[in-house]
Amino acid sequence: MRTHASVVIIGAGVMGASVACHLAMRGCHDVIILEQFETEVQGSTARSAAGVRHQFSHEINVRMSQYGIERLRHFQSEIGGESGLRQVGYLFLISDEENWQGYQEATSMQNSLGVRTQLLKPSEVHAIVPDVNLDGIIGATFGPDDGFCDPHGVAMGYLNLARSLGVELIRSAPATAIEVVSGRVVAVQSPQGRISCETVINCAGSWAGVVAGLAGLAVPVQPFRRNIYVTQPTQIIPGQMPLTVDVTSGFWMRKEHDSLIFGLSKPDEPAGYNTAVDWSWLDTVLDAGFHRFPRLGEVQLAEKQCWAGAYEITPDHMPILGRHPDLPSFINAAGFSGHGIMHSPATGLLIAEEVLDGKARSFDIDSLRIERYASGTSFERNII
Ligand SMILES: Cc1cc2nc3c(=O)[nH]c(=O)nc-3n(C[C@H](O)[C@H](O)[C@H](O)COP(=O)(O)OP(=O)(O)OC[C@H]3O[C@@H](n4cnc5c(N)ncnc54)[C@H](O)[C@@H]3O)c2cc1C
Repeated sequence: MRTHASVVIIGAGVMGASVACHLAMRGCHDVIILEQFETEVQGSTARSAAGVRHQFSHEINVRMSQYGIERLRHFQSEIGGESGLRQVGYLFLISDEENWQGYQEATSMQNSLGVRTQLLKPSEVHAIVPDVNLDGIIGATFGPDDGFCDPHGVAMGYLNLARSLGVELIRSAPATAIEVVSGRVVAVQSPQGRISCETVINCAGSWAGVVAGLAGLAVPVQPFRRNIYVTQPTQIIPGQMPLTVDVTSGFWMRKEHDSLIFGLSKPDEPAGYNTAVDWSWLDTVLDAGFHRFPRLGEVQLAEKQCWAGAYEITPDHMPILGRHPDLPSFINAAGFSGHGIMHSPATGLLIAEEVLDGKARSFDIDSLRIERYASGTSFERNII
């Protein structure tokens, strides 16, 4: 194993892959990715719902989605491999005045950036999803350019290009210590050996807080289980369906081939790395689902295909990007709070700039730097 690299990336999920690829595409090949598991792309990236959307309440999130979705559209020619992008849309159904006000403001902000999100009256929703129950719905937003992708394809596309350009991936190599001397990172240790380096990038997903702790830093990212339930193939919703969210309950559903996949975040889920499917939560999810989609009751669950994974949650549901002020050679790219797949192209671009140009420059990411927690921060409201 090599004993030196200019940059060590911790974590081979979609973020580590994208950052490595963007560094390598700019000529920085002296990069090692350490992955704790026996194979790459086994963390949250492999367990996501794969949604991509422009519909956020914070402008920086919209801009990162615009960039990311455009890159996924051209993924095969720019990176190689398949992004699996399907722009079937996202539909948010809203039944209370406070949320409706917020979604109208967010839509106006998105439109000002060139995003084609539409405000819909309840009477217009059935043209998009015919059988949804509209009881109590006062309005909806529809993003025709939103949809879903193939997170594994995206991560492997980035990783394969990075490796073909000279990046080394070391599997079964958990970072166990980060050596810091005179305010600089000097090495990362794993059971496979010590790698001296000038820069460490924390792409450890839901483990990002633990990895930061190895360098003596506090980075507030915590793991929270999220469940995805899958049905047997069904035709209760024929044709194409946008990912549909009942904003008040939080229930969401979309099609995956001929099956339906759906979920609902559990508000009192404790922090932790338990990623076994929570069957005790299913009845609550189904109650919310049957309310909006009564015909869901006709469909069998495909128990063995259901899964769960960890959201990597920060206090304001916004990612933590950039150099750590207490240790500038330690760079965070973590805490995406359940929307990291769609933001992985922008993150790779920005973090490569942070390493090679001193500071990210394509977007102003000051609102995503960890320093924001000292001065007060505002929540991303549009988290599912
Ligand atoms: C159920 C669910 C649904 C989701 N839905 C969506 C969605 O619809 N759209 C969307 O954009 N996002 C979604 N997400 C979020 C998305 O999956 C994540 O934001 C994204 O995968 C984060 O990528 P990552 O590379 O940072 O993390 P990961 O994929 O978790 O990768 C981190 C890697 O770091 C490795 N690692 C950790 N610690 C160490 C160590 N000490 N040493 C070496 N390696 C280490 C891990 O093993 C892992 O491979 C969802 C997530 C879940 C769980």
